[in-house]
Amino acid sequence: MKEIKLKAKAKINLGLDVLRKREDGYHEVRMIMQTIGLYDRLVIRPAADGQISIRTNLRFLPTGEDNLVYRAAKLLMDEFQIKQGVEIELGKYIPVAAGMAGGSSDAAATLVGVNKLFELGLDTEQLMKRGVKIGADVPFCVMRGTALAEGIGERLTPLPPMPECHILIAKPGIHVSTKFVYGNLRADELKEHPDIDGQIEALKRGDLHGLARLMGNVLETVTIPEYPVIRRIKEVMKEHGALNAMMSGSGPTVFGLFEDAAAAQEAYRALDGGGEAKQVYLVS
Ligand code: ATP
Repeated sequence: MKEIKLKAKAKINLGLDVLRKREDGYHEVRMIMQTIGLYDRLVIRPAADGQISIRTNLRFLPTGEDNLVYRAAKLLMDEFQIKQGVEIELGKYIPVAAGMAGGSSDAAATLVGVNKLFELGLDTEQLMKRGVKIGADVPFCVMRGTALAEGIGERLTPLPPMPECHILIAKPGIHVSTKFVYGNLRADELKEHPDIDGQIEALKRGDLHGLARLMGNVLETVTIPEYPVIRRIKEVMKEHGALNAMMSGSGPTVFGLFEDAAAAQEAYRALDGGGEAKQVYLVS
């Protein structure tokens, strides 16, 4: 039987700025998005029963309409009036509710997979257009790579790839909702804004040090006072030689950029089992 296997990759934000809160309640952002080598695995097969069924290794995840994978499959299957069903196996490895767009990336992979499985003939741009109906991060997860995201995160401009480096990811064992973070952000009172244009210039020069030096995330103004563990993980990474360390998205995951593989390994060991972080990964 035909089946499609996909990797749904996580993202980090190398820079995250919020310009203002819009009248409709959304925040206007300016972010540098970067796909990383940490991914969920999806297998998509046709099913005879006409249903969309999801199986996953994480028992607490919803498997019905509340799962973004379900919504992505349904969106294409309704539009193209596909009478057959699909069965989707979702192997989750990206930390959940972590600021790494795990759900959005699964949705993006599902759009790509269903398009392929049923030979719908949609190109990347057409998939991205449908993706934004599911979530602001989904178009980037379809496109992947390095990009500037503006608007509510859906307006994308591709950027030169980030220079090679080692990325240490550490998620503390706390739950931080995106809603809480944006709800408590005082966008008009921010004293400092990250230099996103400077980061774009650093990417154009292939300058890892310059890129790392300018890393900044305004959402830390909400999360760090509330959850000091985020600051502590950043400090551990920097003490072990990270060029810089920062919270990704609305958190609570922290990532550090390392030039040196041995230093990254040492920081990994310091955090893994150290009590501060629950999930630790080293990727490039
Ligand atoms: P973002 O970086 O876009 O804010 P996130 O990493 O904070 O994303 P996700 O892991 O995508 O958050 O998921 C957040 C919530 O969405 C979870 O609490 C979960 O119940 C729900 N959800 C729906 N579908 C999925 C999915 N396929 N994978 C993970 N979570 C999902």
